[in-house]
Formats: sequence, structure tokens, C-alpha cells
Amino acid sequence: MKTRIALLFFCAGLHVSFAQTSYLLLPDRVFDGETMHTRWAVLVQGNKIMAAGPRESIKVPKEAVTLTFTYATLTPGLIEGHSHLFLYPYNITDWETQVLKESDAYRTALATVHAKNTLMAGFTTVRDLGTEGAGYADVALKRAINEGIIPGPRMWVAGRAIVSTGSYGPKGYDNDQTIMLGAEPADGNSLIKVVRDQIGNGADFVKVYADYRWGIYGEDRPSFTLDELKLVNEVTRSSGRVLVCHAKSKEAMIRAITAGAETIEHGDYLDEEVAQLMKAKGVTFMPTLGAVESIQRYRGWDKGKTPEPRLVTQKKKSFKIAYEAGVKIGLGGDVGVYPHGENVYELELMVECGMKPIEALKAATSVNARILHLENEIGFVREGFLADLVVVEGDPTQNISQLRKVKWVMKDGKVYRDEMK
Ligand SMILES: [Zn+2]
Repeated sequence: MKTRIALLFFCAGLHVSFAQTSYLLLPDRVFDGETMHTRWAVLVQGNKIMAAGPRESIKVPKEAVTLTFTYATLTPGLIEGHSHLFLYPYNITDWETQVLKESDAYRTALATVHAKNTLMAGFTTVRDLGTEGAGYADVALKRAINEGIIPGPRMWVAGRAIVSTGSYGPKGYDNDQTIMLGAEPADGNSLIKVVRDQIGNGADFVKVYADYRWGIYGEDRPSFTLDELKLVNEVTRSSGRVLVCHAKSKEAMIRAITAGAETIEHGDYLDEEVAQLMKAKGVTFMPTLGAVESIQRYRGWDKGKTPEPRLVTQKKKSFKIAYEAGVKIGLGGDVGVYPHGENVYELELMVECGMKPIEALKAATSVNARILHLENEIGFVREGFLADLVVVEGDPTQNISQLRKVKWVMKDGKVYRDEMK
């Protein structure tokens, strides 16, 4: 018993000294979430940013550890707006096999590795858009990360997500069997109960598939009526949460936006009319360019060599319409379709489609902090914000791929990666 008490004190002592560690960070450049600055310093104490600004303006405590990062840029911890930590690339194992044949325990074991890879790539927060058949394992994964049991990003989770009866997969099996779906089906008034149940099980927001490829020719068609989506939104909002919608077809996007969705996921057939509606309602677009490109590559497309698939061309077109119209665009790649830790891929594609690198940086920081309603805690390098910080080599506003060259990662004041030694 005595040893145990002593040990407890020892641990408590360690904790206190850790929490008080101060860092003075001196990178060449600081991207504060909106603007790039040179000759700035950032002071971190415990898990908070105590000061950020011109070097001469910062009062440095004696005990602060100074870290100088030459040829490097410091940014807020990056935020992935559309991840699936419970999925991995479909060219390794197709979606249906992952959903139907892999146990939740196995998938959770994989997800712990995905979470670690995400954090090490500088992504200190993710908005995870559904476990696709692994129940509320995301809620448990988030808990394990928050308790410091395993390394991973801050998680904002959807849980099971909601689909309309008949629309979602896996499908095509003999009718004598009941096939588990990748999300929870609900319709009409039963949506009220399902939304509340998902919230009760730990969903931080409610994700609905406003359409799916269940048209007569396999095309994307709306799955819920406008009234159903309004009902979901009303129930979701009254709990202080928000509705986010998977929507590719024009009609589903219009219904989702009209019903009150805060983000549109995918938006493959976004046009000028939809863009104007999104602007008017302040809805953010999460383009998922990476998912579309990856799937076409898995099907044999050799980018730059074989003809561009129709879906890729359409995707780029919708992105350009949204960007030129001034729709808010976040970073949301649908990562999981491609490897966790490769989140920068989506940003590279956004830049390839004409977005300025600094806008892509904003999408991955301040814009995504706002879609999470966490813009007073993360997504910026500002006094009082959480110490989620990343240092990359070079200047990502000159070349967005510099974000792949991660030198140093801090989350909640703790250093998880240090390539400077
Ligand atoms: Zn997704």
C-alpha cells in the first residue's frame, strides 16, 4: 500500500511539472490560421498558447525551453473535416468486406493505428463521419485518446450515421438473410428516436445520407424528403448539435441546405444555383476530391497517362464553381478511402483545382475549426487557444506539399513528434 501511495505522489508530481513546461517557439514563419507572419514567436505554457506575435513583443519566462525551427513554418494543428478512422483503402480490402466480414474489435485495433498516423501527420483534430458498421466504436476510440491511453487526434464523431430504408449498402444478397448496413436506417417519425438514440450514444453531430446511388440506373438520388430532413435538423439542433449531410445530387443538396445542414459532404453535382444557396445560408462545402480520385485510381486510372474519368472531371468542375462563387470550402477528403496520414492529398488536389495554397491552409485550420464550432479553441495560433501546433519544413504557401514534411507535432501542449533532434 505504501509503495502505491508513493507512486501516486510521484505520478502527480510528474504531471504538475509536465503541465508547467513552457516552450518558446521560434520558426521562420507563423501561419496563424488566416495570415502568414515572419519573425513571430509563440509561447506555450501547459496546454495553452500564452502569447503569439512579433518576437520583441513576447515576454519570455526564465524557465521556457526555446526551440528554433529554421527553414520552417509553424501552423495551427491541422484539422481533417471528413475522416473515417474505421475504414482503410479499398484497394487493400473493399468497403463491403470491411463492413460485413471484419469484427468491430479488429476494426478498432486498426483504427488505433489510423489515429496515430493521423496525429503524426500533423492532424491534431478530426471530424469522423461514421464508423460504417462498427457501431459506436468511434465514441470509445475518442475516449481512449482523450484519456491519454493511445495517441491520436481530438475526435468529433458521428457514430453510426443515418440512411433511409432501402438506399444504403451492402446490398444484393439473398432476401432470406438480414444484412448489416454501413449506417442506421430510419424514416419518417422514427427519425426522431434514432437521432436521439445516436446522440445518447455519444454522437457529437448527426450525419445523414441525403442521397445515395439507388436510382434506377444506379445514379445518386435523394433518399429523404425535405420534411424528413427538417425533422432531423430540428431534433438535432434542440440538443445543441448540428446536422451534416452526405449529398451529391443537386436535389439532395438543395433539400439538405434548406433543412438546415451546416456542411455538404461530396457535392459532386454542385452547380451555380446550389453554390448561391450555400453562400446565402453560410453552408460549408467539404469536397472529398481525394476519395473520388483514389477510387478511380483503384479502378485502373493512371493519372496523367490514361484519359481522365468522367467522375473526376465532374468533381473538379463542381469544386471550381464553388470556389469561384466564394462558397466556404473546408478540408474534407473522405480519408480512409486513401491512407490515414495522407490527409494532405486532399489539399494538394484543392490547389490543383485552382485554390490558392493559403486558402487551402485556411480550409485545414480556421475554416474547419468553425464547422466544428471550436473556433475559440483550435484552428488559430492565438493567445488562450489550445496548444495544438505543427511545424513543417519550408513554406506551404509556396508549395502546399510542404505540409507532408512534418518536423514537429504538439497536441494539447504535449510533443508527439520531433524530427529536430
Ligand atoms: Zn465519408
